[in-house]
Amino acid sequence: MTTAVQKAPRINSEDAVGIAAELYDLNVSAAPLPSERDQNFYCEAGDEQFVLKIANSGEALEFIELQNQLIHFLTANKIELEFPRIVRTRTGEDISTIKDQNGRQHFVRLLTWVDGICFARAGPHGRKLLASLGRALAQMDAALAEFDHAAAHRSFYWDLRNAAMARELIRLLPESRRSLVERFFDEWEKIDWSRLRSSVIHNDGNDYNVLVSKPEQRVAAILDYGDVVYTATVCELAVALAYVMLDKPDPIGAAAQVVAAYHEIYPLTEPEIDSLYTLAVTRLCCSVCYAAKQTRDAPDNEYLNISNAPAWSLLDKLSDMPLDWPTKVFRYACGLPVVREQTSHLRPAPSELLEARKKHLGPSLSISYQAPLHIIAGSRQYLYDSEGRRYLDCVNNVAHVGHGHPYVVRAATEQMAVLNTNTRYLHELLIEYSERLTATLPEPLSVVYLVCSGSEANELALRLARAHTGRNDVIVVDGAYHGNTSAMIDLSPYKFDGPGGRGCPSWVHKVSMPDVYRGAYHGSDAGKLFADDISREARQISDALAVFFCESALGCGGQIILPSGYLREAYAAVRAAGGVCVADEVQTGFGRAGTHFWMFETQGVVPDIVTLGKPIGNGHPLGAVITTPEIAASFANGMEYFNTFGGNPVSCAAGLGVLDVIRDEELQNNALEVGEYLKQALRELQNQHSAIGDVRGLGLFLGIEFVRDRETLEAGGSEAAYVVEQMKERGVLLSTDGPFHNVIKIKPPLVFSKADADFLVSHLDAVLKEDSPAIQN
Ligand code: PMP
Repeated sequence: MTTAVQKAPRINSEDAVGIAAELYDLNVSAAPLPSERDQNFYCEAGDEQFVLKIANSGEALEFIELQNQLIHFLTANKIELEFPRIVRTRTGEDISTIKDQNGRQHFVRLLTWVDGICFARAGPHGRKLLASLGRALAQMDAALAEFDHAAAHRSFYWDLRNAAMARELIRLLPESRRSLVERFFDEWEKIDWSRLRSSVIHNDGNDYNVLVSKPEQRVAAILDYGDVVYTATVCELAVALAYVMLDKPDPIGAAAQVVAAYHEIYPLTEPEIDSLYTLAVTRLCCSVCYAAKQTRDAPDNEYLNISNAPAWSLLDKLSDMPLDWPTKVFRYACGLPVVREQTSHLRPAPSELLEARKKHLGPSLSISYQAPLHIIAGSRQYLYDSEGRRYLDCVNNVAHVGHGHPYVVRAATEQMAVLNTNTRYLHELLIEYSERLTATLPEPLSVVYLVCSGSEANELALRLARAHTGRNDVIVVDGAYHGNTSAMIDLSPYKFDGPGGRGCPSWVHKVSMPDVYRGAYHGSDAGKLFADDISREARQISDALAVFFCESALGCGGQIILPSGYLREAYAAVRAAGGVCVADEVQTGFGRAGTHFWMFETQGVVPDIVTLGKPIGNGHPLGAVITTPEIAASFANGMEYFNTFGGNPVSCAAGLGVLDVIRDEELQNNALEVGEYLKQALRELQNQHSAIGDVRGLGLFLGIEFVRDRETLEAGGSEAAYVVEQMKERGVLLSTDGPFHNVIKIKPPLVFSKADADFLVSHLDAVLKEDSPAIQN
């Protein structure tokens, strides 16, 4: 291997000023810029800025031409990145030459300066910036797939295919570090390059070559084309990831944000995803090996050591990690099952499973779709069936941070391997989780009971309310669902008024559903008018009223968003009658509303008791009741509250994992952005299809109501069902609900993206456009 350091031109700033004057007719001031092999100068002439690039004498003309062509090509491709312009010499050349004092010839170019802060100095690197980097790299690679040049087909030591060259330098590393690096090179050895796509790539998206527009948190340019090479395409991303991971508390989590964004624009293949981590870490190993050589050869070139110390500390950190962990996270980032599933021929046929189900499971269990799905794996917002078909999951709000999120899985499984007991022992996770959970809630909601489901949470809420008030009766909203236990069926008009239901019990008082589309009130005072119904009821039963249960948005009732002022008026009336107020956040909590972490907050109220479930454990059976110290004290009447599973350390670990991921991946904000985007797109669809009577929702909790007539509001139940079936055939999972089963529910995992929204909307549009007797438009 020859590095070209020895052949770098010995040119100073004064020489650069002379070159600019002589070749470009420019009167500049010049200052040297760092570079590994060449010499670059920052030049200013009036308010114009340039980079004067003097190649090392070993560089071939062909290769300089390649770089210029690449700049022209990418500029013409109109990707959302800035590129420098190539300034011609006074004689009209793109490339000129100079001779150094040793008589060696160097190629010279002048490029316009591109403004921005380099990525290394643009920290902290939030989700937005990391995603922008992923998109920028993906756009560049997608464009470069169409580009080729003979000079790119070269044997280059920074090409990760040639990492063996760096590996030979391991002997120059401190002895204590060698085995660490060897271990990663061993992994590199196993890469099957024939399975990876090849193309010309930039090959050096390092944190000094990536320029950022700080106010917008956007990557504005990727500069320096001196490492361009034709190689495995995925090396582009791998190189960038090596630098993204530097100095990060969670390097893999940060890298995953870049990977996810890249994959959305320019999908990676499975073999690429599976070799990505090894390639990224190989780049770090190459860096430390070459740095060791170059420090030996040119001890005074500071640039060579720039990323050395952070690279070592990152390598140390990564070597403490199980080798397969980063790949699991990257697979997840791309929506692939984290653990590879068995092949389909080993499985029972769906029909066999259906038969067995009929034999051994209670017939009151329902199953979705005319042809039931045999789902065998999940990742992010996707589910996979036994045939390997992928479905976009638009309904599962339990897999809140994504199906099989590796961080939550790891948190729960690691704890499960250590200890799982009950709350009769002290355990720090129980405390930590309770503190983290209550920190998300307003005062005085500070006392936590952990349970195992939403139903159980509501059961306990009912007991708390009764213990506190010494009364028995409950006000519920029509269409509400609060759970599957005996008492909760009694509190759920959705059940007791439905098939097999026994009607409203005497101690339960039903008020009308605050539905501004179909209900009695519509205008800006609808919230108050609907709440008047509650005031009347509360006054009538005031001696008996214990509690008002209300979902913060009605799920089973048909994705009903409470009208403004509703809970404020309702809570005031209930409290005036001596009752307490429960917010059932089982469907709606944990950032789904977008603007707020809890949906009740959108109503400007503080409940007395909040119940949580579904998303709280990302699929781990967990629920919670949170109340005030006062109510908790009333409940402590001498009878022990014991819950065998509630609050066990595994559940707490899972719950903590969910809170961490919501925070780290900024999922509440994603719910807001994507939710608004999707609602807008659905409203546009509503303008085109009369079958859509209403589109409503907050954040990623949306509903599409189907009608046969926009005047009479005749419900389009069979239409909604038809759409759900058709969408399933197209790979999109939805479901219906509401008293007339005519509302399509959209409440996906919060990792749902704008691309997913586009996919959903375009297929919905196509289904509604189909000439089918099932739908009249
Ligand atoms: N409350 C609401 C609002 C719900 O939607 C549900 C479940 N659909 C429950 C409570 C009951 O939760 P679980 O099924 O976990 O018992």
